[in-house]
Amino acid sequence: MRAATYQGPGAVEVTEVPDPIVADELAAVVQVAAAGICGSDLHIFEGHGFSDDVGFTLGHEAVGIVVDIGSRVSRFAIGDRVLVAASVGCVLCPTCAAGHVTACEHRRQPWKEYCYGMSHRLPGSQAEFVAVPHADRNLFSVASEVSDDAALALTDNAPTAWYGVRRAGVAPGDTVAVIGAGPVGQLAVQSAFLQGAARVLVVEPVEHRRTAAVAAGQSPSTARTPRPTSASSPAVRAPMPSSKPSAWTPRSRWRSARPATEAESASSASATTTHFRCA
Ligand SMILES: [Zn+2]
Ligand SMILES: [Zn+2]
Repeated sequence: MRAATYQGPGAVEVTEVPDPIVADELAAVVQVAAAGICGSDLHIFEGHGFSDDVGFTLGHEAVGIVVDIGSRVSRFAIGDRVLVAASVGCVLCPTCAAGHVTACEHRRQPWKEYCYGMSHRLPGSQAEFVAVPHADRNLFSVASEVSDDAALALTDNAPTAWYGVRRAGVAPGDTVAVIGAGPVGQLAVQSAFLQGAARVLVVEPVEHRRTAAVAAGQSPSTARTPRPTSASSPAVRAPMPSSKPSAWTPRSRWRSARPATEAESASSASATTTHFRCA
């Protein structure tokens, strides 16, 4: 199959890699319909990755269809539409049971990794197919009314934001500061409101991101221009969210389900890795 592979700092190439297989009776293989690019992928691209490996398949955000399963996978069947969660655990050990799957005590298993696409140990999902260990625990069903884009946000960005806010111990009525309003920061704003924050301060130097953060907190018709409170740390106050949440578009991704349009191909020409066709 074809996959986006890391070939060293600044070099990502679509190469032929071995087709994934169902490694054991608890595993599955998913045909990828849509995959996201995380900020972590950018660290790898820039040469600040999580291993010294070269040539491994990138990606840990994916939505797709189950195409093969082990004999003891009970919650899923071939043909199910699923999302592949970025964090990988057995979810059976005490650490996983407590919700800390990235600290899974079974890290010494053959897959030996807490996330896809960081090394050769657990190949990533920016590929035509991805192998999933402990499929019953690391896959999640996607309802038909949930789009691929929305489901992609649930693989990594939204849980990261939600978990971060939860760990901050936000209580009803609190004022919360979100430092950085990239995609995860935007979702942290919404998570903070949903967890009871009365107001959210966003510290973000990029104007359109500040504007989006405000839009996440109130209806577009009443959105106001963010006002920096100081020259060095611009901040905006986002009021309580309206009942109609604003749309959020994930960062660039590639799809295997359809060919890229000419416009998409043109827009991605200046980027090194963001979009390629795979049909
Ligand atoms: Zn990530
Ligand atoms: Zn575990």
